[in-house]
Amino acid sequence: MKHDRIFNFNAGPAVLPLPVLEEIQESFLNFKGSGMSITEISHRSKWFDDVINEAVERTKRLLNLDDRYHVLFMQGGASLQFALMPMNFLGDNQSADYVNTGTWSSKAIKEAEIQKKKIQVVASSEDRNFSYIPGNISFNRDAVYVHITSNNTIKGTQWAAFPETSGVPILVDMSSDFMCRPIDMKNVGLIYAGAQKNIGPAGVCLVIVRKDLLERVPKNLPTMLKYTTYSEKNSMYNTPPCFGVYTIQLVLKWLEETVGGLNKMKEINDRKAKLLYDFFDSGDFYKGTAEPGSRSLMNVTFRLPSEELEKKFIAEATANKLGGLKGHRSVGGCRASIYNATPAEAVPALIDFMKTFEKKNG
Ligand SMILES: *Cc1c(COP(=O)(O)O)cnc(C)c1O
Repeated sequence: MKHDRIFNFNAGPAVLPLPVLEEIQESFLNFKGSGMSITEISHRSKWFDDVINEAVERTKRLLNLDDRYHVLFMQGGASLQFALMPMNFLGDNQSADYVNTGTWSSKAIKEAEIQKKKIQVVASSEDRNFSYIPGNISFNRDAVYVHITSNNTIKGTQWAAFPETSGVPILVDMSSDFMCRPIDMKNVGLIYAGAQKNIGPAGVCLVIVRKDLLERVPKNLPTMLKYTTYSEKNSMYNTPPCFGVYTIQLVLKWLEETVGGLNKMKEINDRKAKLLYDFFDSGDFYKGTAEPGSRSLMNVTFRLPSEELEKKFIAEATANKLGGLKGHRSVGGCRASIYNATPAEAVPALIDFMKTFEKKNG
């Protein structure tokens, strides 16, 4: 394989498009004739200004965002967003609705509770071990916002569509499925995505926020914890994570110009995921853990008949250049993360290996 790379099924940090990595390598010592690396130039330079503006513009184009939205680049990962949302948007005597679909949703809930904010968990899939996305949820009409995790990286479930909230803004953790398909922005108030799953390297979190929500931000918050600090300064109040923003800009360019946009990306992702799920459904050695109506396009979680076999499977897969198939440490089992940048050939290669492994061990 080119550059002796493996098929990388890691959940995050995860695979990036090879042409993007090659372009970074190519331009690393001398960015656009500056005589400096992207990691050496000033964030106040024209060079970097162009990078961040292009990243913003491409995000807007890919998602058809109108002027009501800001695109921001922040640090602290998706995990800091868990704390910032209630801090910035939820006032005294107000309440927000949360849906609990697994580890990351639970952590978002916990960060609101630490601040003694009033929230209500209006639905949860904990009763069946977070193996599905709850339906028919009644949201509170007076909730300030609704929080959901659109793709549950650990449990392998994904919302097929955002829920109907009767106009209450939805705040969405899209860390592991951002840009995997077009987004219906109808009720979306905020989207955040830790870049290291589907759009870039670790160290930067892309945030899309609807401007009307910013009117809620209290004046007396610490500067770096206010969304308005980022929206007013084009994410450059302080030094932004320049390398991360640059990589995201290149990934977005790849999405627009090489893949051909998010409808195309969705077709490709649908095809890759279907191959794996159809394979599970055709036998009973490998069992998908997510319920069929809730299966993720991005993180395909499955079990083998025993933990011994899972260990052996992961070890032999690694030896065959199929990396990162171990499930999250909190749940065990196996997981194939098949993000946007996972090459189409990776999935058939994995299935071939799985068939051979089953023949020898089934
Ligand atoms: C990985 C992940 C997180 C945590 O992201 P950090 O950037 O490490 O804070 C949060 N939510 C989801 C859905 C994730 O997949």
